[in-house]
Amino acid sequence: MSAKVIDGKAVAAELRGKVAEAVHRVGCDRGLQPGLAVVLVGDNPASEVYVRNKSKAVAEAGMRAFDRKLPASTGEADLLTLIAELNADKAVNGILVQLPLPKQIDSQKVIAAIDPAKDVDGFHPLNVGRLASGLPGLVPCTPLGCVILAKTVHSSLAGMEAAVVGRSNIVGKPVAQLLLAENATVTICHSKTRDLPGICRRADLLVAAIGQPEFVRGDCIKPGATVIDVGINRVPGEGGKSGIVGDVAYSEAAKVAGAVTPVPGGVGPMTIACLLLNTLNAACAQHGLLAPKI
Ligand code: NAP
Repeated sequence: MSAKVIDGKAVAAELRGKVAEAVHRVGCDRGLQPGLAVVLVGDNPASEVYVRNKSKAVAEAGMRAFDRKLPASTGEADLLTLIAELNADKAVNGILVQLPLPKQIDSQKVIAAIDPAKDVDGFHPLNVGRLASGLPGLVPCTPLGCVILAKTVHSSLAGMEAAVVGRSNIVGKPVAQLLLAENATVTICHSKTRDLPGICRRADLLVAAIGQPEFVRGDCIKPGATVIDVGINRVPGEGGKSGIVGDVAYSEAAKVAGAVTPVPGGVGPMTIACLLLNTLNAACAQHGLLAPKI
């Protein structure tokens, strides 16, 4: 069997196009231009690249970008003051604080200070609780991207056996909640799971989010399953250059699975596309408008 390759780049481009159209419509009909504030503390090179890409995508979608770059020495109180300013700014509909934050700052305190209505990362405890309670709210971008990709293969996930490998707050747990909301039967695996390969082999839908290069081998995959690989792992490549691989051994998975996301070009591009979608939805909700049909 040769798995269908789930083209995350193409799905993300389509979603970004639809978001841009909807932004144009709310601009023409309501005079509303959604705005996203991305806050970066310090000069982590990977974070700087993410933030640059996010700001570019925000502008391309016709939204306003309010980038705030603070020095690595910024204290918690100063960051909380900035969050309060952004919460109060009506032009800012979404706030994203790039993680990780420097050691002197308590990330949980900062996330909890963001207005939940502007929490486009979906990490605020109120939004986490809404997701867990099956209530509408802002949901984390990467997990949302995973579900959108799975639904390009299966129009309904209802009744599917799903295994999520990884239980982080930013990927594993919210992905599991979203799959549950789609009526899948979900098992969450982690480092203490006893028979991880056995659980994975039962899964019609397998989501890997552990941060271990090519951890999920072909013999852990049910023939015909859909595999969503969230992992981004930098590994030494040919000629001294480094390369990027996922948490799934792609060439093995491609022989067994029914469909699989590549790395790069799978889940990665969906994260920014879903961030734009969340910002648009947050802006509409703040102005009492229904979320545009995307
Ligand atoms: P994380 O916070 O480090 O969590 C990793 C999870 O995997 C933990 O729950 C851990 O279990 C579990 N785990 C680690 N090693 C394991 C093993 N050998 N067997 C079973 N479970 C194991 O990672 P994360 O933030 O969720 O990220 C996961 C991966 O996704 C990373 O490669 C990251 O770069 C990538 N990622 C990609 C995107 C994107 O946009 N595509 C976004 C976010 C993250 P315990 O809880 O038991 O320790």
